[in-house]
Amino acid sequence: MLSRSELRVEAPLSIKDGSCHIASLRDGREVWLGGKRVGDVTADRAFAGAAQSAAALYDFQAAPENAALMTFAAPESGRRVNRCWQLPTSYAELVERRRALEAWAATHYGFMGRSPDHVASCLAGMAMGIEVFRAYDAKRAAALLDYFRYARDHDLFLTYVIINPQADRSKAAHEQADEDLTLGVVDEDEAGITVRGAKMLATSGIFANEVFVACIQPLAPGDERYAVSFVTPMNTTGLKILSRKSYEAAAPSRFDNPLASRFDENDAILYFEDVKIPWERVFVDRDIALSQKQWHATPAHVFQNYQCQIRLMVKMRFLLGVARKIAEANGILAFPGVRETLGQLAAEAGLVEGLVYGMEAKGTVAHGHYVPDRHLLYSAQVLTQQLYGKVITSLRELAGGGMIMLPSGIEDFADPKLRQLINKTQKSPAVAPEERVKLFKLAWDAVGSEFASRHAQYEMFYAGATFVTRGHSFRTYDWPSATGMVDRLMASYDLDEELARLKKDTT
Ligand SMILES: Cc1cc2nc3c(=O)[nH]c(=O)nc-3n(C[C@H](O)[C@H](O)[C@H](O)COP(=O)(O)OP(=O)(O)OC[C@H]3O[C@@H](n4cnc5c(N)ncnc54)[C@H](O)[C@@H]3O)c2cc1C
Repeated sequence: MLSRSELRVEAPLSIKDGSCHIASLRDGREVWLGGKRVGDVTADRAFAGAAQSAAALYDFQAAPENAALMTFAAPESGRRVNRCWQLPTSYAELVERRRALEAWAATHYGFMGRSPDHVASCLAGMAMGIEVFRAYDAKRAAALLDYFRYARDHDLFLTYVIINPQADRSKAAHEQADEDLTLGVVDEDEAGITVRGAKMLATSGIFANEVFVACIQPLAPGDERYAVSFVTPMNTTGLKILSRKSYEAAAPSRFDNPLASRFDENDAILYFEDVKIPWERVFVDRDIALSQKQWHATPAHVFQNYQCQIRLMVKMRFLLGVARKIAEANGILAFPGVRETLGQLAAEAGLVEGLVYGMEAKGTVAHGHYVPDRHLLYSAQVLTQQLYGKVITSLRELAGGGMIMLPSGIEDFADPKLRQLINKTQKSPAVAPEERVKLFKLAWDAVGSEFASRHAQYEMFYAGATFVTRGHSFRTYDWPSATGMVDRLMASYDLDEELARLKKDTT
């Protein structure tokens, strides 16, 4: 019998599956961890679990029972690819697309922030707003559209790095002590540009096929060579992927760390050592105005962050499940104070869900496509940045010492005497000792472990610092309608009129 990958050669229109994705990651990419170059990321104990989770996304979409929910026929090639590449033209199509993203997020319980639908959503938004690029440079616009089709038809997993590395944030990119710190163009010829420097942070980069490099931060005059957007494969010569510490490597047991062992999507600094980028893959070339407009004059920024809110909606559901199970396991569910805490959490989960549905319902047709409401999206960003930490604190409050009074690891269960002691000490009115340990270890991995702590940082920063998200909210709110109401009320009375009445009354 033919394997799936062999079948693919026979049937190029088949849906991308997990084995295809795993094979694509064995491409010689230059990943550095713990002072060593990693050979095969799909086999390394620091990355294999997350690589399998990425592959599981594609297996999920390729399963016959999920194909209609998860995929659509790409317009030109006809190949069925993930719906994240779909450019919705109506509310119904947007909702259809969201259902696919929601189902994907449920496979990782919302813990893979940069699953493939994130950057695909960004590029989809840029493709919708292609005329913004055309107004600047027809060749670069053609390159972007061509790449969008290529990435879509190959159902690529893309990551992105759109932030300049921290150094001195009070200075512009060209004013930093080392002018090659931030990625910029150092050369060009007929074939393309050469770039040098660093970008942060390639979340999921180790499990992605290609990286979209751009700059979302405002740039100053003099920063032109940093105002560049392009894509390149993760195995490009000269591209160094500097992994942060792997939480997965410290989580060899799934029972002990059910999340870190599987969903440590990793975040890496990328350093480009004189990397050549062909013109066909360059979308913005040293243009500060277009570098900003690509995000905000097209629907890109809305679509990429709408995906984040869909994922967070799923994660909130999961965290609420953990909260309730903790309450049941400790016999505290009937306490009025605990019900209040759970009621508050349920309201907060409802808020996130309601904002997703609201931004869809209040969406508008722009650039010929149906786009979620911009201001409701930014409202959701601002509020959820603050909410996440509160939710985590509520779970900690509910759990007390339960997430700490746990066996050190699965090895304790392997010793019959220790297992007896575990059975004696891990008591619950609702579940057996082993189940109690399993639940509280999961809870700790979700709210307290190093993996969980990185998640708290992620939810606070993935869309920018608070001053950035609040700025978007300020910019996009319908102030005329708000101040117009105040004006209408103030126009309905008048001091002179009242003074005249006062005079009349007193005479
Ligand atoms: C876990 C994680 C994953 C990430 N994944 C990705 C990714 O996949 N791709 C990607 O491109 N980026 C990613 N990022 C980067 C993320 O986009 C940035 O962290 C975010 O945009 C904030 O930028 P910064 O970290 O440089 O913080 P800074 O901009 O340096 O801000 C840090 C703090 O400094 C203060 N501050 C700085 N400047 C100002 C100012 N002008 N006014 C007022 N206060 C200021 C504020 O207190 C702010 O909170 C990730 C970040 C994290 C933490």
